[in-house]
Amino acid sequence: MSNSLIQYQITPKNTNAHIFEVHLTLDNPNPMGQIFSLPNWILGSYLIRDFSKHIVSIKAHSNKQEINIKKLDKNHWITQPCKQKITLIYEVYAFDLSVRCAYLSNQRAFFNGSSVFLQPLGFEDSPCEVLINYPRDAVIGQWRCATSLTLKDKQKEGEIYTANNYLDLIDHPVEMADFTRFEFSLANTPHAMTITGEHSTDIDRLRTDLIRICTHHINFFGGHIPFDDYLFLTLATGKDYGGLEHKKSSSLICARKELPTQDQPDITPEYTRFLALCSHEYFHAWWIKTIKPASFHKLNMSGENYTEQLWIFEGWTSYYDELSLLRAELLSVEQYLSLFAQTITKVQQGHGRYKQSLAASSFDAWTKFYQQDENAPNAIVSYYTKGALLAFVLDIEIRKRTNDKHTLDEVLRLIWDNYQTTGLEDDTAQRVVEHLTQSDFNAFFAQYLYGVDDLPLKQAFEYIGINCEFNHKQNDLSKFGFAINNTQKYAVITHIFDNTCAQLSGLYVGDKIVNINGNEVPAKTLGKVMDGYGEGEGIKINILRDELPSEIPLTITHGEKIHATLTLNSKANKTTLKRQKQWLKG
Ligand SMILES: [Zn+2]
Repeated sequence: MSNSLIQYQITPKNTNAHIFEVHLTLDNPNPMGQIFSLPNWILGSYLIRDFSKHIVSIKAHSNKQEINIKKLDKNHWITQPCKQKITLIYEVYAFDLSVRCAYLSNQRAFFNGSSVFLQPLGFEDSPCEVLINYPRDAVIGQWRCATSLTLKDKQKEGEIYTANNYLDLIDHPVEMADFTRFEFSLANTPHAMTITGEHSTDIDRLRTDLIRICTHHINFFGGHIPFDDYLFLTLATGKDYGGLEHKKSSSLICARKELPTQDQPDITPEYTRFLALCSHEYFHAWWIKTIKPASFHKLNMSGENYTEQLWIFEGWTSYYDELSLLRAELLSVEQYLSLFAQTITKVQQGHGRYKQSLAASSFDAWTKFYQQDENAPNAIVSYYTKGALLAFVLDIEIRKRTNDKHTLDEVLRLIWDNYQTTGLEDDTAQRVVEHLTQSDFNAFFAQYLYGVDDLPLKQAFEYIGINCEFNHKQNDLSKFGFAINNTQKYAVITHIFDNTCAQLSGLYVGDKIVNINGNEVPAKTLGKVMDGYGEGEGIKINILRDELPSEIPLTITHGEKIHATLTLNSKANKTTLKRQKQWLKG
């Protein structure tokens, strides 16, 4: 393995055709023929995405002459044997608005290294240098560059950054645009956020709120900060949403209305969602970017990397992303409990929770969670939402068994203190819990992590003086066993839930519901119309299936009550109230 520098140069070459041009120069290639590859997936998003399909042309040069380069498989190339410096020149199509790939238009350029930078085989430890050129095309506004890569030099045409090695290089997304940027410092560590896209954000408010969240997380992990600076890259659009964690930055996409404006004194549900996203991705800097499954210490960027532990890294992060908003006093207790209740409802909605365990959900993320089809609610469970609920139940169980001396927070801190270099084996979390509590958790993990038992949520909430009730909700079709797309005139069925009257009647996904009992039913009123029929009543649903009319008789049965409500128990005794306070305050 060589340690010579790998030099990259990336240019937004044709903004309207969405083409980046990349030059890669390697001084001492393998003389037998140099192999290059591109990752097939991006860290933090467990799906094979085959980024190499967006490379639209590739050439190799050496000693001022073009040399042969041919493909070995979908994401590997080899050059002809060559002893001298090699330069690859290739073009990448970039028009994916998500946080996971690359995008180029006259408004902005964004890329993850995993979409644009080829890796020379045998140079895994070599330092990298990237010249990021500004576009020569006319673009909107004055573009600047934002990334957590280490800045080496700023020139008129572009900026030069460095990375320790290839895996480091691809863990720093880059944004170029005429963005808003603001900064703050915490424990001598510079933080910044950029916001690209039309927006009228109350920056002072956002900065103040972010400081609270970041301060919470830093304190949560005992003041240890795993980066020397941090950057939130935000894109504001009409209605998109998404986030991806990196070791010293995160990419966020939110709807414009999720950003706070000066005329909104209260915290809106939309702004709460954005803050929870920031909280989630920032938490990951500790919890998966530093502490991670042992198997993630050696990654295969060409294929799937399996782990049973996503419920720990995504589920626990999801538990704390919202809980921290409460503990940082951004949310009231009522607001927080309402959010938590929504997570419970999401989990209760799917019967897949009786088929797939959380460990299996984590392991099969690549083909199941990330490739959900219409049957997903009946077949799988989310390691995010159910993982968050198991984190809560485990937190309460630890408190119960130790007479409120210990908490899940301490489990994370113990893991933080002891597993940074080795990572976590599948049973590490259980061992740490058992060590902390001096109690056997085999049955607990067998039931709730490896098994599919419903979580004892009511009992867990009762322990801290919170009532957890389940009810039916008006205007919600899931109690009849189906979900719809209501954007057209007539409802189109998108999901049929297991063991419900919809499934029993023979309604299928794709059916268009036109009328019920002879009366036309537009999509928007379907929920109300269905609510008008009582338990046991027979109705006739007229549908179009494959454009042909058909009548489906259905006998109304209301499914299980899944809508959770969490309320403070006003009759809780003093001890319970003390526990409640401990949990809420952290
Ligand atoms: Zn996450």
